[in-house]
Amino acid sequence: MRKGIKKLLNITLIAAMTMSIATGCGKKNDTKSNIASDENKQLSIEELAWDGSRADETVIDDKYGSCYQVFVYSFCDSDGDGIGDFKGLESKLDYIKDMGFDSIWMLPINQAGSYHKYDVIDYYSVDKEYGTMEDFESLVKSCDEKGIDLYMDFVINHSSIVNQWFKDASSYIKTLGDDKEIDYAECPYAEYYNFAKSNTSLAGYSKVPGTKNWYYEARFAVNMPDLNLESENVRKEIEKIAKFWIDKGIKGFRLDAALHYSEGNNDKSTESLKWFCDYVYSVNPDLYIVAEVWDASNTIAKFYESGIDSLFNFPLADKGGLVIKNVLGAGNGSCGTKIGSTLSKLDEAYRASNENYIDGLFISNHDTGRAAGFLARVEDKIKMAAGIEMMLSGKAFVYYGEELGMSGSGDDRNKRAPMYWTEDSNAQGMTKGPQGYEVQEHKFGSLLTQSENANSIFNYYKKALHIRNKYPEIARGTQKSIDQIDSQNGNVFALEKNYNDDKINIIFNVNKESVTLDISSIDGVVVDYLTTTDELPILNEKQMTIPAYGIVVIK
Ligand code: CA
Repeated sequence: MRKGIKKLLNITLIAAMTMSIATGCGKKNDTKSNIASDENKQLSIEELAWDGSRADETVIDDKYGSCYQVFVYSFCDSDGDGIGDFKGLESKLDYIKDMGFDSIWMLPINQAGSYHKYDVIDYYSVDKEYGTMEDFESLVKSCDEKGIDLYMDFVINHSSIVNQWFKDASSYIKTLGDDKEIDYAECPYAEYYNFAKSNTSLAGYSKVPGTKNWYYEARFAVNMPDLNLESENVRKEIEKIAKFWIDKGIKGFRLDAALHYSEGNNDKSTESLKWFCDYVYSVNPDLYIVAEVWDASNTIAKFYESGIDSLFNFPLADKGGLVIKNVLGAGNGSCGTKIGSTLSKLDEAYRASNENYIDGLFISNHDTGRAAGFLARVEDKIKMAAGIEMMLSGKAFVYYGEELGMSGSGDDRNKRAPMYWTEDSNAQGMTKGPQGYEVQEHKFGSLLTQSENANSIFNYYKKALHIRNKYPEIARGTQKSIDQIDSQNGNVFALEKNYNDDKINIIFNVNKESVTLDISSIDGVVVDYLTTTDELPILNEKQMTIPAYGIVVIK
């Protein structure tokens, strides 16, 4: 009897607190909607209601955690020219930290020719559009003070065609005519790129202007010649550049286009990646490196032989990726099982190459377009995809604006639209976006609007990051699928994670309907949950009912 009263009290209080967090008004007050408890799985209000405090989070200074990806150009403008800048980003560090991120990856910041800055003219500079070197140093200092690791995009697969190295090299090539061969002693920079003499056009190569038969390798664009990373001299040059930025306070690198380091030769490309990682880790093993190898899992597994910390897990991401595909098809009876078993297979493949790998988790980035587009702008599905990512082992990357469910697809510039701080596009801090981008219609409101709504995508992200930060097992645990749970309902999957002596279990309902499961095979109590509405999981003896698109954490 006493227990019964206590239970009811708990339920009522949980209901009251959750209601106030979830909606701020009491439109629903059905005790069945709340997590009940039995003797073995007693729940407490303290464990389940989140008041927004991060005091109970576990701060571990390692390479896991979560990273916010920023396109500085479109993020926050400090001086009214409509272009985001270092000072603007610096002014938003509290926003990024309060969301729960502990690191930031900036898209390229070096002096470049294009708005996206993947065509680097001077590797030792910062682009004037983003501010001065002093502004950059101030950003680094503020990040340090706030405990945020700052990573830079390191573009070494290619440079700009107006980089001085290429200008010197191509001027020299022009003097050769048809007869002479390259003498690297005469022009060391000719070795920095891949030049070839040919009577016919070469695939992936462009003609050196002012010559008849000389070509240079340029896989991505005519104005971005590929660097020759197999050259010892190029490597020495790049080590010098990396050291320059490490000394400036950069805590890690995101490597662009590593798949293309030696086009079509994954052995050579992996060897180049290994050289770079070995160098950076020799300077400081705590520096973090993640690379883009945009390919299938077997290729990603191959590149893990380099010893790199992380590679982006492309098979999970993008519209055809594991997470989005399953969430999009939620309810078709096979969503969950595919995720659980595929995750295990990927883990096995990557771990075979590097047992210490840290999975580079993401669902979208500046190249893929935004999740809202993949998920038909259905709010519950956008939240579910984010919730799955935040519960997986590895390092979670979130592209700016995804926490608002921003839209952006088609032309690359549309995917890099101004951060949606407020509905007023002329407000302070708002950027104008890349020239020629099509103004995006964002369905779910700006940050200003969403931060006021406890059920917004923004607040869902915040709570997901809070749970990720609260339990170190989530990011760091070795992860395996719990088949007993998966087998009960094809729309459900469950993961068990072990980290040191701690174990945590997470159940995901990838379904537009609620499901009821027998959870007697799982030890522990429900310690947290993520739901897309104010509906809560119900635990009745060993039967757990999880709302549509709900996630339950058991420890
Ligand atoms: Ca500016």
